[in-house]
Amino acid sequence: MRILVVEDEPTLAEQLAEGVREAGYAVDVAHNGLDAHFMGDTESFDAVILDLGLPQMDGITVLKKWRAAGRTMPVLILTARDNWHEKVAGIDAGADDYLTKPFHMEELLARLRALIRRAGGHASAELACGPVTLDTRNNRVTVEGRALTLTSHEYRVLAYLMHHAGEVVSRGNLVEHIYAQDFDRDSNTVEVFIGRLRKKLPPGLIETVRGMGYRLANPQ
Ligand code: CA
Repeated sequence: MRILVVEDEPTLAEQLAEGVREAGYAVDVAHNGLDAHFMGDTESFDAVILDLGLPQMDGITVLKKWRAAGRTMPVLILTARDNWHEKVAGIDAGADDYLTKPFHMEELLARLRALIRRAGGHASAELACGPVTLDTRNNRVTVEGRALTLTSHEYRVLAYLMHHAGEVVSRGNLVEHIYAQDFDRDSNTVEVFIGRLRKKLPPGLIETVRGMGYRLANPQ
């Protein structure tokens, strides 16, 4: 899962990026409205954390432009304290949730998880696929109750597949959602991660769909 953090205040941007990264996501950061708009318009993100008070283009305008262009990724806006009309304007512009500054990182992460799972049509914080469960609250993966040790990239690949269980996910799609923009992206490494995951997971769980990508079998 890949997140865009938009915040012009450098210290807060760094804290946000670090907190979100530590929670297991790939993170890109934009420091002004123009960069934010461009990145959200051209890259694939599973959610965006969007500060509203931004230089060059304000957050509401950025959001309106994304929505007008059909960009549907979940957006969590950060608003100033006691500025209720900013919240209303943000939600009307297409925000999915808001958080008032200052906030606790734990609350931001909980709201982020909720947005991502709702976007995938999941009601519960724990995703299940046959004998495999993934708890999005603590990134814990179990197979028949037994905890699995995964590297951060293996986790991101599995988490993306589990959020999209039953769907065909292309290699390119996985690359876009497990790496930040500045990362040296190599789609061959996706194959390596899939290979390692297959060794750790029950046989047959990750199917290869020839010429298209991968699909997580979704046994009822
Ligand atoms: Ca700001």
